[in-house]
Amino acid sequence: MTVTRRLWSQLTRHTRRALAVPALALASATLVLPQPAQALTVMLNFTGSSTTDMWGVTTVSESFASWGFGMSINQLRNATLAAVIDDFHGFPSLGGDANSPLPVGKQLNIDFEISFGLTAPTSGDSDYYFVNIGDASPNQGFLGQACYGCVRGNGSPAAVGSQVGSVLTDTIAGLLPLADNDTERLNLLVGTLTHEIGHTLLLDHPSGPQTNPGESIYSVMSTGAFPTSMPNNQRILDRDFSYAEFQTLIRTVGLRDIPTHQVPEPASWLLVAAAAALASRRRSTTRLH
Ligand SMILES: [Zn+2]
Repeated sequence: MTVTRRLWSQLTRHTRRALAVPALALASATLVLPQPAQALTVMLNFTGSSTTDMWGVTTVSESFASWGFGMSINQLRNATLAAVIDDFHGFPSLGGDANSPLPVGKQLNIDFEISFGLTAPTSGDSDYYFVNIGDASPNQGFLGQACYGCVRGNGSPAAVGSQVGSVLTDTIAGLLPLADNDTERLNLLVGTLTHEIGHTLLLDHPSGPQTNPGESIYSVMSTGAFPTSMPNNQRILDRDFSYAEFQTLIRTVGLRDIPTHQVPEPASWLLVAAAAALASRRRSTTRLH
């Protein structure tokens, strides 16, 4: 998606991907409060102590100190959250994109929060799952993994509170030579994170490029292996769900009305500060990424 196309959705949501936004533009922005308890929250668990997902992959804390980010780890975590929210809630609607399956005024019925362990969401949602973000122990040789359809879509969801996937920062760090700036470094991380969450919602690997509103001809569900065979250099781009993949998300997750609250909240400004620091736009059964 281009900056222009995303600007509206950016300013009407309480958080957004780390897209550079003139701070003054916020004076006229409509920002929204966090969602009240809905139905589903995916917790982005920045692993503190050792933890093990439902497929036996253990992660330990990653400080990101060696990644070369020009921001604090808290800014990085907030930028990561904003980017994931944008992937799921910043998708263009039919009103602005004739290819979109998303009706105007609707968004996916899903929320996201950061955690530092297996804690329940502050939103009060009683239906929540964890995706761990940390170094694999031991190294697994792949970027991430997730349980296919185990949050929504396979008819037999995992138990509430399950660790349904992992994003393995030690392997992703091996791709850092491809990235020249914070935007691209964040895309490396968030591309895998959104990808693994997508698996838990019944999205599989496409057989090749798919029409999508992102920066690459390859969707965020693409894999470097068969059947997609996406070149690794696409991982530094801000990839999005394809229109077909988003149609599946609408079916598995469901839709709700976009909230219309207009009260800015402190977290919004923090996120925007993190975005501005970036100078510009960044971006399985088990499924291995
Ligand atoms: Zn995958």
